[in-house]
Amino acid sequence: MQRVIVVGAGVVGLSCAVRLLEAGHRVDVVARDLPLETTSAVAAALWYPYRALPQDRVTAWSATSYDAFRALARHDGTGVRMLSGTEVLHEPRADPWWVGAVPALERTRVNGYADGWTFTAPVIEMPVYLRWLAARVAALGGTVTRTNLSRLPESRQARPPVLVVNCAGIGSRLLAQDLTVTPVRGQVVLVAQTGLERWWLDESGPTYVVPRSRDIVVGGTDDEGDWSRTPVPETADRILARAVALVPELDGATVLRHRVGLRPVRPSVRVERVGDVVHCYGQGGAGVTLSWGCADEGARLVAA
Ligand SMILES: Cc1cc2nc3c(=O)[nH]c(=O)nc-3n(C[C@H](O)[C@H](O)[C@H](O)COP(=O)(O)OP(=O)(O)OC[C@H]3O[C@@H](n4cnc5c(N)ncnc54)[C@H](O)[C@@H]3O)c2cc1C
Repeated sequence: MQRVIVVGAGVVGLSCAVRLLEAGHRVDVVARDLPLETTSAVAAALWYPYRALPQDRVTAWSATSYDAFRALARHDGTGVRMLSGTEVLHEPRADPWWVGAVPALERTRVNGYADGWTFTAPVIEMPVYLRWLAARVAALGGTVTRTNLSRLPESRQARPPVLVVNCAGIGSRLLAQDLTVTPVRGQVVLVAQTGLERWWLDESGPTYVVPRSRDIVVGGTDDEGDWSRTPVPETADRILARAVALVPELDGATVLRHRVGLRPVRPSVRVERVGDVVHCYGQGGAGVTLSWGCADEGARLVAA
């Protein structure tokens, strides 16, 4: 058994904390932003390997998470549901590189589009799910404490010695001195539920429509290197117009809220042990999709 400090209380940090606690370690999570204040709380969050590389590791992590979410969807209160949905394509295309991570993917023709595919994916209602994850950490004996760090905790000087798992997302620019992780800003609009029960995706835009229990997440944007967390009204209008073109039943839906998050994009996701630090960040536009796969690998690296 190790004493482990997990830095970060987004979906990656909390998932790592759960796996480490399940393995019998003593785990304390420290984070500047508590779960509902993180980028993770803004995520749509459809299972979909987006803006994350390399393809082979991302496919494997995504497959692991798919199975974990499918199991969680069987339990009330997790915020996880398995929903069918369609990605439309403007050109005919071969199967996606991550096709091996889903049990089945069917070609679909949608009027006005050249091609498309339909599959069942986990849809995770993040405010509900992050509360569930935090409760699971607490139930397993872990703690979550607000702390703003200027550097990673000193593992060797602590008594007893600790291992540090760095899940700081975009904060790894500072904490891991890694300038290869950069923000890709995403703006979304939350609209009231219209009775929608399937998700829709069009990579141009990108445009996505993800139904939850009481609202629908409508996105989005993909603004490279943009640090602004302030929603832009004109951007919201353009997002809604694209979404209505994709899903006409959204026309006239009541707008509830506007949200912005900064995806921690890196040329490749970093899950790696360096001495007494396990780094686990840079999951880009797929932090939820990769969360359980990365958490399992992070826990293996702690035990190594
Ligand atoms: C609009 C939008 C839509 C998205 N949709 C999806 C989707 O459909 N599917 C999907 O899989 N992903 C989606 N994502 C991506 C997903 O949200 C991210 O990949 C994920 O949230 C990253 O999780 P994380 O835990 O690494 O980072 P975060 O959630 O950002 O958490 C980082 C944690 O580290 C802490 N931290 C950072 N610096 C410090 C410091 N100096 N000291 C202490 N603590 C620190 C923070 O306070 C926070 O607690 C979307 C993102 C956006 C913005």
